[in-house]
Amino acid sequence: MISQIHIQKCVNSRAKDLDFDNIPLGKTFTDHMFLCSYESGQWQTPKIVPLAAIPTHPAAMAFHYGQAIFEGMKATIDSNGTPILFRPEANAKRLNFSARRLGMPEFPESLFVEALKTLVGLDRQWIPSQQGSALYLRPFMYADEAFIGMRAATRYKFIVMASPSNPIYKKRIRLYAETNYIRAAQGGTGEAKAAGNYAAAILPTEAAKAKGYDQVLWLDAQNFKAIQEVGTMNIFFKINGTIVTPALDGAILAGITRMSAIELLRHKGFEVVERRLTIDEVIEASAKGHLEEAFGTGTAVGVAMIQDIGYESQIIHISNNNPVGQMVLETLNGIRTGKIPDDFNWMYSVEV
Ligand SMILES: *Cc1c(COP(=O)(O)O)cnc(C)c1O
Repeated sequence: MISQIHIQKCVNSRAKDLDFDNIPLGKTFTDHMFLCSYESGQWQTPKIVPLAAIPTHPAAMAFHYGQAIFEGMKATIDSNGTPILFRPEANAKRLNFSARRLGMPEFPESLFVEALKTLVGLDRQWIPSQQGSALYLRPFMYADEAFIGMRAATRYKFIVMASPSNPIYKKRIRLYAETNYIRAAQGGTGEAKAAGNYAAAILPTEAAKAKGYDQVLWLDAQNFKAIQEVGTMNIFFKINGTIVTPALDGAILAGITRMSAIELLRHKGFEVVERRLTIDEVIEASAKGHLEEAFGTGTAVGVAMIQDIGYESQIIHISNNNPVGQMVLETLNGIRTGKIPDDFNWMYSVEV
């Protein structure tokens, strides 16, 4: 069914025009994109073509019914100049988890990895080499069948774009624990990386920013008590020596950075507990002086240290010492650039 990736290269690379120390975040794209269409019940010939706009019918079902999912991952470069990917099979599996939840066709996992390898190999001069910088990869799938009516679409596109980035949060971040809006509930789409989850989060996120916060801390849909996660990150606390992160309860996105941080912390001898954790418990730990650290994990940021959390009329301050969060960040960055041995077999070299 799947033929070889058909490659059409650009004539002139734009990479030489980029200042790699000052990359405009989220607006810079590499020369090429990977593209594969689904029609007549199967994925068609996969292609890599120069990045360009795609003509889309105004009735494309993704616009109306929201069948749109995505992934986020990073390619880095090791000291020999070899591009490397971080656990790409995990992203392939999660894309298909999201696809099933939204009634979309699964994309072959081996082709997903092959697409990333080929695109990253072709656009390797776009991978920034500075510590903490990376080539952000955005695989996504959407329904592009022109049809008005509520059912699963029969035509889709799977695309991978690549965007170089410098480190995102250098500062510690401020979170606002939202008590009016929710991100996800059990049985909903919170476990899927669905574009619609973000649509629901935009208004509360803009409101939190207007109050001086960086992102929303989401609480559970029933009681606004159990901590779920942050806008684009999972969350970890260190309380009285133990690392606690909310258990995946069906409404939390299973972050690959989260899973990696848990494995890394346990390997280093930390006790890591995945369980229900309420905002009241965090407030109490803070009052007793037991709240030692808080940090968020996600591909885009790596690890972001948390400065404080606004909740109703209070502000929970967190110590500005983050040895554990810092260790996780430095270890992940070190493994990603080949400076720290990859004891976990997470890295996937792209031979070019
Ligand atoms: C993508 C995402 C994360 C982080 O997942 P990673 O695989 O670590 O990048 C966390 N929360 C939400 C809502 C996300 O969409």
